[in-house]
Amino acid sequence: MSFAWIDSFPMLSETMNGKRLAYLDSAATALKPLPVVAAMSDYLLKHTSNVHRGIYRLSEENTSAYEVVRDQVAEFIHAPARESVIFTKGTTDAINAVASSWGRTHLKSGDEILITDLEHHANIVPWQMIAEATGAKVVSVPLTADYQIDLHAFHKLLTPKTKMLAMTMVSNTLGVIVPVQEMISAAKKHGVTVLLDAAQAAPHFEINVQALGCDFLVFSGHKVFGPNGVGVLWGKKELLEAMPPYQGGGNMISTVSIETGTTWNKLPEKFEAGTPVIAEVLGFGAALKFVKAVGWKEIEAQDHVLKTAATEALLNIPGVKIFGEKAHKVATFGFEVAGIHPQDLGSVLDKEGVAIRTGHHCTQPLMARCGVTAMARASFGPYNTLTVIQQLTSAIEKARRLFL
Ligand code: PMP
Repeated sequence: MSFAWIDSFPMLSETMNGKRLAYLDSAATALKPLPVVAAMSDYLLKHTSNVHRGIYRLSEENTSAYEVVRDQVAEFIHAPARESVIFTKGTTDAINAVASSWGRTHLKSGDEILITDLEHHANIVPWQMIAEATGAKVVSVPLTADYQIDLHAFHKLLTPKTKMLAMTMVSNTLGVIVPVQEMISAAKKHGVTVLLDAAQAAPHFEINVQALGCDFLVFSGHKVFGPNGVGVLWGKKELLEAMPPYQGGGNMISTVSIETGTTWNKLPEKFEAGTPVIAEVLGFGAALKFVKAVGWKEIEAQDHVLKTAATEALLNIPGVKIFGEKAHKVATFGFEVAGIHPQDLGSVLDKEGVAIRTGHHCTQPLMARCGVTAMARASFGPYNTLTVIQQLTSAIEKARRLFL
């Protein structure tokens, strides 16, 4: 496993607590390759100006560059129309936008919003908020004993009351891949609107919104090797066109009158109020270009190699349990080491240069289903190597010697 593109990630050569950094928290945020930083610094140092406003050359050039990134996103998710790609602050912002805008106009008392027990809080709480405002109810699909979606239960929970199916494509905590295709087909037979949370899918495999047949898809730039602060809401054009804006301000208007009120701009501007995060959008574009250059074949193959090797290495350590070990999954591992609190484990690993996440991973309902309040999570990016797995397992062995 030695790819030239790995050299684009300077963080891989960093040390932590005197040890070589083993960054195993890519599910929280991915490392950034050099072209992302270059695109942002080029804008900030040499090309600063606003977009969609000025008629001077700098502003026009930036507007074009900004709009090219919209084309790149459309290509990345195989969206049929560029104007249904909306830039948001991230996944959380995008789900809140759909919950409040679509939810406010489509939900009423007695309706049901179906989610799953794997969801990140970002795909639970906005639905609870709109449910409270409209009288709708949030219902969750349970998991099987091996932490996969209980499809039998799912089919029973799909009823004429179901108006929205909002689900993750990949669990951020366990890495479990959700059989969204089968679930979308079933939902569509009931006329249910479907939102996919692709925050964890987007860095791992190719997404095609047309093949999936979903209505909305959301993800964050920072998990796809891009900067923080930018994400995507994609929606079917007719749905977005019928939805009211969720934020008011500059750029999203067509006309504003104190006397007669305001009319909305067309898509996508209707949903992009205010000055956007220009440097971040340009950095995001560089990240998508980077992914394209590396190619999905290589990214997916690397994920498979890391997943197989890490599963074997972790299970070789006495007392290690991987939650959802047998599931169809990506190289993200929610695990526990018998007799060691995840927080203590995380501290020992930190001293060994190994950065993992411990806690509830913004998935408290899933923690409850797993019968724990916290767990450790090691999540890999395609830039990780087999050496890092060795560093992880040696550090876990050290923790076992210290605590057991
Ligand atoms: N959904 C999933 C599955 C996630 O993993 C995350 C981030 N951990 C989010 C939503 C929220 O993403 P963001 O914090 O970038 O808005």
